[in-house]
Amino acid sequence: MKPVVSLLVLFVFLQSCKKKSVDILIINGKVYDGINVKATGNAIAIIGDQIAEFGNIDTTKIEAKRIIDASGMIVSPGFIDPHTHADRELVKKEESHNKPFLYQGITTVITGNDGESVYPISKFKTICETNGIGTNVVPLTGHGTLRDVSGIGTLENPSEEQITKMKALLIQELENGAFGMSTGLFYSPGSFSSTEEVIELSKIVKSFNGIYDSHIRDESSYTVGLEKAIDEVIEIGKRAQLPVHISHIKCLGSDVWMLSDSLISKIKKAQSEGINITANQYPYRASATGLKSALIPKWAQSGGMDSLKHRLNQPVLRKKVLDGITKNIKRRGGGVSLVMIKAYDDSLLFKNLSDIATSYNLSESEMTVKLVLGGFIRIASFNMTPHDIHNFMKQKWVVTGSDGNTGHPRKYGSFPKKFREFVKEKQILSLGQFIVHSTSKTAEIFNILNRGSIKVKNKADIIIFDPERFTDKATFDNPFVLSEGLKYSIINGKLSLEKGKFTNQLNGKFLTRN
Ligand SMILES: [Zn+2]
Repeated sequence: MKPVVSLLVLFVFLQSCKKKSVDILIINGKVYDGINVKATGNAIAIIGDQIAEFGNIDTTKIEAKRIIDASGMIVSPGFIDPHTHADRELVKKEESHNKPFLYQGITTVITGNDGESVYPISKFKTICETNGIGTNVVPLTGHGTLRDVSGIGTLENPSEEQITKMKALLIQELENGAFGMSTGLFYSPGSFSSTEEVIELSKIVKSFNGIYDSHIRDESSYTVGLEKAIDEVIEIGKRAQLPVHISHIKCLGSDVWMLSDSLISKIKKAQSEGINITANQYPYRASATGLKSALIPKWAQSGGMDSLKHRLNQPVLRKKVLDGITKNIKRRGGGVSLVMIKAYDDSLLFKNLSDIATSYNLSESEMTVKLVLGGFIRIASFNMTPHDIHNFMKQKWVVTGSDGNTGHPRKYGSFPKKFREFVKEKQILSLGQFIVHSTSKTAEIFNILNRGSIKVKNKADIIIFDPERFTDKATFDNPFVLSEGLKYSIINGKLSLEKGKFTNQLNGKFLTRN
């Protein structure tokens, strides 16, 4: 061999011996990639904020700055939570770590839910980037917020000029990165809008490839009824031709219990006709909402608090309001099943409406009025059946969500609870199905690119949990307890949780569409 050739051979040989250098190497884990329901590898290599290799890696050819031994552990893409209300905390520097979600394995939260968002999104982004955020954020813009900002508020028939203004605001928010628009058609001011108004706005969302996400007009039998409210979502999807998503799907209250079978058929029929309709669900039998929204009749809420007080001061109207409240209490399973979880007065906390009314020697409806006039109260309302919960959970188009607002344990426990109760104990879903429906499926629905699955070049949002210990700890009596059993959380390639402890690093990114 000529000397030049042998030098070349030596060079090539040395190159092939040189180890590949990576930042983090996860080994010995059972890796679920978020797409397949079976584990498909045991190792992941991370360089910078990206997944560099995945599968059954020959670790002898890799030099890692840090090795994480995941023996006995489940490795999964970080969970994506589609319905969080987390913007309320993310704007506060002392709470932007987002720990209640982080400890559940959530690495991305979708905000701006139920029609309510931080306005404008550009300001929200600046606040998040200035303070730092513990998880990634995917913002939606809220229809109710747009109504308020454009001066429409609770008007049932906004002027052409006001509608034009609202459309311009929507375009601005979509241009600034909103992934879509949410509505809270059950809540004021969304409840005062027509389907036509929502369709007009949804057509704009469609032109930006965004999604329509809704807390539907009625999850029970308050106004149009649950079935008609689902029909409305389908109609919006059909006429505005955009993907539509039902948040926290449920059959709320005895009037609509066991309707899940017929609702699922209805939704599947719409899907077969080409409408892209999906939903999210939290794994609890109790919902949570404002005492006022839950119990005061809609007509009596029109015009706000002053109008409500005015009505209560007129004997005939007062009786009508009280009758409506009585009906609503019955619809939600009686005063015993309505528990105060956030209140202006701490002494009310964790008591049910029935006991509070007895202690004041008032009827439950009179007590409700007194409480609503006293200040803001949020209730947990035990109003769902296991049949309907299981039925929805098994659907391919239903993903895990927390609807994490303060006072309900779901904010701290939804994902681990679903794993503990519905994967391990009741075996409604397999582990792989649970992971797919908490990661890649959600990313696909909300069009979040390069996240939600373990793939080379995807962003390195990865969690490692102990299947023996991963569980929720928050309860209705003690809702502010972090979940347990999550060993590592890696967000954008950096460690946020290490050996079960928060690293004090705020590794989240504010994501914008495209
Ligand atoms: Zn909601």
